[in-house]
Amino acid sequence: MTTKVIFFTGGVLSSVGKGVTAAAIGRLLKARGFNITIQKLDPYLNVDPGTLSPYQHGEVYVLDDGAETDLDLGHYERFCDLRLTRNSTVTTGQVYQEVLDRERRGDYLGGTIQVIPHITNEIKRRIALAGKASNADIVLVEVGGTVGDIEGQPFLEAIREMRNELGRGNTAFVHLTWLPYLKATGEIKTKPTQHSVRELRSIGILPDMIVARSDYPVEKAICGKIAQFCDVPAEAVIPLETSGLLYQIPLVLEEMRVAEILLDRLNLSPKQEPDLAKWRWMVQELGREKPAVRVGLVGKYVELHDAYLSVREAIKHAALYAGVDVEVEWISAADLEKGIGLERLENVDGIIVPGGFGSRGVEGKILAAKYAREHKLPYLGLCMGMQVMVVEYGRSVLGFSDANSSEFDKLSTHPVIDLMPEQANLEETGGTMRLGLYPCQIQPDTLAASLYQTERVDERHRHRYEVNNDFRAVFEQNGMFFSGLSPNRVLVEIAELRGHPFMLGCQFHPEFLSRPTAPHPLFSGFIAAVCQTLGLAAETRPQGS
Ligand code: GLN
Repeated sequence: MTTKVIFFTGGVLSSVGKGVTAAAIGRLLKARGFNITIQKLDPYLNVDPGTLSPYQHGEVYVLDDGAETDLDLGHYERFCDLRLTRNSTVTTGQVYQEVLDRERRGDYLGGTIQVIPHITNEIKRRIALAGKASNADIVLVEVGGTVGDIEGQPFLEAIREMRNELGRGNTAFVHLTWLPYLKATGEIKTKPTQHSVRELRSIGILPDMIVARSDYPVEKAICGKIAQFCDVPAEAVIPLETSGLLYQIPLVLEEMRVAEILLDRLNLSPKQEPDLAKWRWMVQELGREKPAVRVGLVGKYVELHDAYLSVREAIKHAALYAGVDVEVEWISAADLEKGIGLERLENVDGIIVPGGFGSRGVEGKILAAKYAREHKLPYLGLCMGMQVMVVEYGRSVLGFSDANSSEFDKLSTHPVIDLMPEQANLEETGGTMRLGLYPCQIQPDTLAASLYQTERVDERHRHRYEVNNDFRAVFEQNGMFFSGLSPNRVLVEIAELRGHPFMLGCQFHPEFLSRPTAPHPLFSGFIAAVCQTLGLAAETRPQGS
């Protein structure tokens, strides 16, 4: 079967939920038995978002193969329960780098290298590769940015050419727009949508479906008007009102027969009746009123919740299956460090310290770990969150007053977190971080073992520093146990405290593997401990029942 491709473009505004819409449609197609994959084309010049500040770009999402990607890849994986690879992420930077490398090698045999066809061909090659490598029936391709952006033009040209090359019945174009609401007249306006479709058509792309996002309910007449002006069948104008519950979106789109319309466009019939029972159950549970617990998230970028998107989602998933609601209290580590907002720690039922880089706020995170340990408050440390837990223990319990990570104090006489010589060759090969999936052996009779219920797990990493092996013995002799190790036992993957209701840190990022249909065991364990300390019996329901 030929691989079919659905392209998603955006008009009017960015940040109106193209990624979530593509992911939601992916879920509907997967529910019909199709093997799908999703790819994001990002028109910016960075090779990947790994070097971008979270303030600019939200969290960096890490895949199994170590690709550092846009947070939309997290939506794709969570909504569609996929494990994507670096084939799913393409930036202008990567495309140019590849073409220029070939040019330097002389591969173009003296030809003049141009945006069309060399850049566009490389974009098309990467789209085809995403489908081929995953053996997908349908590839969903999201083009970042909005129509009309100068930097997006080569991508739009490439996808226009692909329709011609693959044939109309093998491609579909979904255009996502925004309908502004005019307070003065109480009207929803379609003009910007009309203009963005005109812009798209001027470069030769005719949308097959328009998803019209709005903050307000959109009447049928408005959809009719969009259909009339934009040459799209009325049934293919899909109004999508802003929802506080992202996981509801596949069900909203299902109501409007989005999958049927697209499959029809692609000359495909569903392979099976849509299987959305588990998803429906999950959404219903999310909407049900439940007792609430408060989790303090102590981080550096707390003003920007997108910087911790996967952590927030993983908390939500775990809470859902424990039968509770969670209020996340965003606590600034930099404030705690300055002595501001310490009382906020008293008002939470558990603390999570997520990943981070750089020294700002580190002492605040260490303080949060100390508070959790001393007050027997459940604590989950993710990457940097584990490192500060180890530093704090070193300082307060083992009496190493200058204990630190050598990331923050090169002169510490107790660098309990350090660059490990075993990792040195990693640096020589150019990669300065341990990235992607690595195995972890769970030690028997530990909290980690009781949570994972298995001896070996594979988790995603993104860090440079490790627990310093020189100090492992003294920690283990004094109450901190290293319950997850690399199979050769050289690297510490999980640390946990004995005699505490739940104080566990992991060197990896479990949040990237949590799914709304399958919460991550470490997050579930943390939420269960929170419930237990509050005297709330955590309901353990069979997933999806
Ligand atoms: N900065 C720390 C390191 O590089 C932690 C990284 C992280 O939390 N992702 O090891």
